[in-house]
Amino acid sequence: MKAGSLRNVGIMAALLIAPVAFALSAGGYEQRIMTLAGIYAIAVLGYQLIFGRLGALSLAQGSFFGIGAYTTGLLGIHLDWAFPASFLASLIIPAAIACIIAIPVLRLESHYFALATLGISQIALLVGVNWTEGTGGANGLYGVPPMRILGTALDSSEAMLVVVWCVLASAVLAFSWLVKGRAAHRLTLLREAPEAAVTAGIDIGARRLSLFVASAAFGGAAGALQAHSIGVVSPAVLEFQVMVSILAMTVIGGRGHPAGAILGAVLLVHLPEWFRFLEAHYLVAYGAALLVAVIVMPEGLAGLFRRWLVTQERWAPEPPRTSKPEAPTTLAVLHLVGLCKRYGGVVALDNVSITVVPGEILGLIGPNGSGKSTLINVASGLQTPDAGEIRLGNLDLTGMPAHGRARAGLSRTFQTPVQALGLSPLESVLAACPAGLDERRAERHAAACLSAAGLTAPAVPTTSLSPAEARRLDLARALASGPAVLLLDEPAAGLTPAERDDLACCLKRLTDSGLGLLLVDHTMDFLLPLADRVICLATGSVVAEGPPSMVARDPAAIAAYFGEPPP
Ligand code: ADP
Ligand code: MG
Repeated sequence: MKAGSLRNVGIMAALLIAPVAFALSAGGYEQRIMTLAGIYAIAVLGYQLIFGRLGALSLAQGSFFGIGAYTTGLLGIHLDWAFPASFLASLIIPAAIACIIAIPVLRLESHYFALATLGISQIALLVGVNWTEGTGGANGLYGVPPMRILGTALDSSEAMLVVVWCVLASAVLAFSWLVKGRAAHRLTLLREAPEAAVTAGIDIGARRLSLFVASAAFGGAAGALQAHSIGVVSPAVLEFQVMVSILAMTVIGGRGHPAGAILGAVLLVHLPEWFRFLEAHYLVAYGAALLVAVIVMPEGLAGLFRRWLVTQERWAPEPPRTSKPEAPTTLAVLHLVGLCKRYGGVVALDNVSITVVPGEILGLIGPNGSGKSTLINVASGLQTPDAGEIRLGNLDLTGMPAHGRARAGLSRTFQTPVQALGLSPLESVLAACPAGLDERRAERHAAACLSAAGLTAPAVPTTSLSPAEARRLDLARALASGPAVLLLDEPAAGLTPAERDDLACCLKRLTDSGLGLLLVDHTMDFLLPLADRVICLATGSVVAEGPPSMVARDPAAIAAYFGEPPP
C-alpha cells in the first residue's frame, strides 16, 4: 500500500473510533447525539458521491433518507421483518426508486436537475403525509422494533451507537471502493471538463446513474438506522430540512473526502447543542457560524487537512520505455458523408463529405465561421447532424453517443482546451485510458501518451501548465483512448514557431503507426508542409480539395480563404 493510502486509512480509523470512544465515556445523551451524527454521516457520504464527486446538485438525498426510514418502519411494524432484512430493503427500495426516476431526471443539466430532484422530494413528502393507511399520515409510524441481531435486541444507547458507527465504517469502505483509482480521476474529469471526458470515452450517463443509485442506497441506510434508533417514523424525515442538513454537512465537512462526511456531521449535529444557551437567538448564531465556516473554509473541514488527506493518490510514473502509446490501435478509414448542420438560419455544414485514411494528415482550412469546428463536433458526437453519416471502418457511428465513438477509435482535441484542474496531467490522461487496461498497464500507457504528445513534465500541477503544454495535454488525453483517427482543432493556435515545429514532428511520428489525422489550422507554413491533402471549407461547403500546393493555388480557395496565392 502506498504511504498516502496508509496515512488515509490511519486517519479514517481515528475519525471512526475517536467519536465513539468519546461518546461511550461521556454518557447516554452524548451517545444519542453521536448516533445521530453517525447516521447523518452515512447519508452525507452518499451525497458526496453525486454532489461532491460528480458535481450534480441533487436535492433528493433527504427523500431517500425518508424513504429508507419508512421502508424499514413499514416492514418491521406491519410484516414483522427482522432488522437485517428490513434494513437491506431500506437500501434496495430507495436505490430502485432512484433507478426509475433517473431515466427522466439524469438527462437534465445543472439547475434543471436540481429543480427536478426538488420536485421529487416534494412528491415524496406529499405521499408521506397523505397516504394515511400506509404511512400513518401526519401521525407517522409508531413502534418501529429495535435493531435485533442474532436474537439480541440492540436497544441501549451504547449498542445503537456502536452498530451505527460500524455501518458507517462499512459505508466508508463502500465509498472508497466506488471511487478508487482511475474511477476517481474519471469523475473529476467529468465534473471539471465534461466535454473532454465524454470524448475520451467516459460514459457520463452510466456514471451518473450508478452514483445516483448508490447515493440513494446510502441515504436509505441512514434513514433506516434513524427509524430503528428512535422507534418512530414521522413525515419530518421527508421534509426539506433533512436535505438542508445533509447539504450543509457536505459543504462544511468537505465535498470529496469521507473524512469530510464524518467531520461535517459531528460538527453540525453538535452545533445546536452548543448554541442552546442562546435560546431565541440560537438560529441567528447557527446561521452566522455556517456562513463564517463556508467563507473561511471553502473546501470544508477536510480541506484544512488537505496536506494529510489524499483524495486521489498522486504518483510518479515509471519513465516510458517507448514514446508509442501501447493501447492497440486498429487502423480504419473515417468517412464523413453528406453532413449537414444548421443553427437557425446559419448553415454551418452543407453536404460536407470527407474521408481520412490511415497514416495520412488531412489539412482542413477555411475562414472563421466556415464550419471547421462544427465538423469536428458533429463527427465526435458533441453535436447531432441534421443529415449525413459518420462511419469508421465498417462501424456506423452516426447514432452513437460521443463516448461510444471515442471507444470505437475516433478521438479529438479542442480549439480551446479545458483542463480538469483537480487532476495532475498524468491523472487526466489516466482518466482517459481504456477501462480494459489494468492499473499498471494504464500507468505505462498514460506515460507513453504524454511522452508522445511531447509533455515532458507530467508531474507538475495542471494549473501551472503553459498554453502550449495545455494543448499537449489535450493531445495526450486524446491519444489515451487509443484512436484510429484523431481530429485536431487548431492545435498550433498560440504556439511559438519553435513549439509549432515540435508539434509538427510529434504529429508526423504519430501517423507513422497508421493513425489518421484531420488537422484544422490557420498557420499555412505549419499546415501546408505537413499535410498530405488539404480541404478548404467556406460557409459550410467544400470549395477545394487536393494536394496542399494545388489547394493553395485553387481560385476558389484563394477567393474564400487565402486572399492571394501563398509564396
Ligand atoms: P470555424 O470553426 O470554421 O471557425 P464554426 O464551426 O465554429 O466555424 O462555426 C460555423 C458557423 O456556425 C458560424 O457561423 C457559427 O457562428 C455557427 N455556430 C457554431 N456553433 C454554434 C452554436 N452552438 N450555436 C449557434 N451557431 C453556431
Ligand atoms: Mg473553430
